[in-house]
Amino acid sequence: MTATPDALLASLARRLGQDRVLTDPSELVVYEADGSTMHDVTPRAVVFPRGTEEVAAVVQACLANGVAFVARGAGTGLSGGAMALDGGIVVALNRMDRILGIDVEDRRATVEPGVRNLAVSEAAARHGLFYAPDPSSQAVCTLGGNVAHNSGGPHTLKHGVTVNHVLGVQLVTPWGEVVRVGGPDRPGYDLLALLTGAEGTLGIVTEVEVALRRIPEGVRTLLASFPDVDRASAAVSAIIGAGIVPAALEMMDDVVVGALEAAFGFAFPSDAGALLLVESDGPEPGLDREAADVAEVCRAHGALDVRSADTAAERAEVWTARKKAFGALGRVARHYYTQDGVIPRTRLPDMLRHVREVAARHGLRVANVFHAGDGNLHPCILFDEDDAATRAKVLEAGAEILRHCVELGGSLTGEHGVGVEKREAMALLFSESDLELMRRLSDAWDPAGLCNPGKVLPMGAGCVELSPRARQAAL
Ligand SMILES: Cc1cc2nc3c(=O)[nH]c(=O)nc-3n(C[C@H](O)[C@H](O)[C@H](O)COP(=O)(O)OP(=O)(O)OC[C@H]3O[C@@H](n4cnc5c(N)ncnc54)[C@H](O)[C@@H]3O)c2cc1C
Repeated sequence: MTATPDALLASLARRLGQDRVLTDPSELVVYEADGSTMHDVTPRAVVFPRGTEEVAAVVQACLANGVAFVARGAGTGLSGGAMALDGGIVVALNRMDRILGIDVEDRRATVEPGVRNLAVSEAAARHGLFYAPDPSSQAVCTLGGNVAHNSGGPHTLKHGVTVNHVLGVQLVTPWGEVVRVGGPDRPGYDLLALLTGAEGTLGIVTEVEVALRRIPEGVRTLLASFPDVDRASAAVSAIIGAGIVPAALEMMDDVVVGALEAAFGFAFPSDAGALLLVESDGPEPGLDREAADVAEVCRAHGALDVRSADTAAERAEVWTARKKAFGALGRVARHYYTQDGVIPRTRLPDMLRHVREVAARHGLRVANVFHAGDGNLHPCILFDEDDAATRAKVLEAGAEILRHCVELGGSLTGEHGVGVEKREAMALLFSESDLELMRRLSDAWDPAGLCNPGKVLPMGAGCVELSPRARQAAL
């Protein structure tokens, strides 16, 4: 581990002010991990820059002292991406949280990286506009984190993920320069696409320009209950197969529904083995027809009941339930480990059967809440983190689930990123030549190897300690 020279911390304190440089171990604890439960590493320090120039100064100081640095937004990531490995410091962007402008005519917003995702839509709403990518963590997570993870959300089935909405970024490069990337119709390499999803390994984003959309004229929200996840999964494939592309198509199984009832008193059909939340949006003409078609497909695939959330209050309740589903799992287990795999939608029944088999073989319980329309699974393996033997089984079960996603023609991550958690699993998906190409790119962008090292690309032996502590509170 590289020792952070005292000189670096002293110079950062002079540049930013002592109150914006944390070194007290009791304060660093908060920055040991992100929202995942499985890893933690104590950073050497945490700094809170207030603007691009300060971020550049921090990066330059780190370079001069050979110290690693990692950007952090809200710390809701689920793959250990914002952890400071190699004795590095955390560059916390959450105080850079100003909305710099909303251009109503051009339908775009320019924001600092620490702006919360939901705050963009809240600010745009008075102009009849919204920001489409809506991670379930949107009340907390930041635009900087969203760009780094190319985040999705329930409504990205129809509206697309972050890369489809980012128009440009300002970036402090790993060598400490400030550059602008993106803009209308720029020829040359598409660096914006490269940076979106680079997980903070190619620089620190200090400003983001995003496209806004007009708030849809109408919305129809249906909640269909099924006896089991098999029938609900078959309905998902059939809805898409019928040529319908809903705005959102989400699934929750009976464990999640039970947890939501226990935690928040949301009253869902009690005999349901699985629920589908299906939302259509767009111009009013045609919406009733689309909702009726969705309901018909659900009934044809064994739905026990199809309800519609007609008022804004009913819709808000259904979506609040969906977005609080992860939090509600605290009612049924002390901890959970969320996997994030992708499979072709048509393989959902097969995949969910596999998840059940793996869980049963390891004697574990799993809750499923996920973006079914995208084939993006989130099996949450429930466990008690203090039980070391169970932890090992949880990790093995997670790895087996991931392997099967790849075997079915899917991928290692739908939206949570590779981070530290899945870097070794990259070899399941990519050949050594593919990985070498990525390494060369990374070396060219970050020759000093100090910008969020130890993430995304395989390293061989693991260098991350497994957390013995509960991380549930971080959620
Ligand atoms: C309950 C819950 C629900 C979730 N639901 C979803 C979902 O529906 N869809 C989804 O996609 N994700 C979801 N996530 C995962 C997570 O919220 C997203 O990955 C989110 O984008 C992370 O944002 P953050 O600000 O918390 O980033 P952090 O966790 O702080 O950081 C994540 C990564 O981004 C990098 N980073 C952060 N800021 C910058 C910056 N300014 N410049 C460069 N790199 C930066 C970090 O280095 C790190 O690698 C969920 C998480 C939780 C806990």
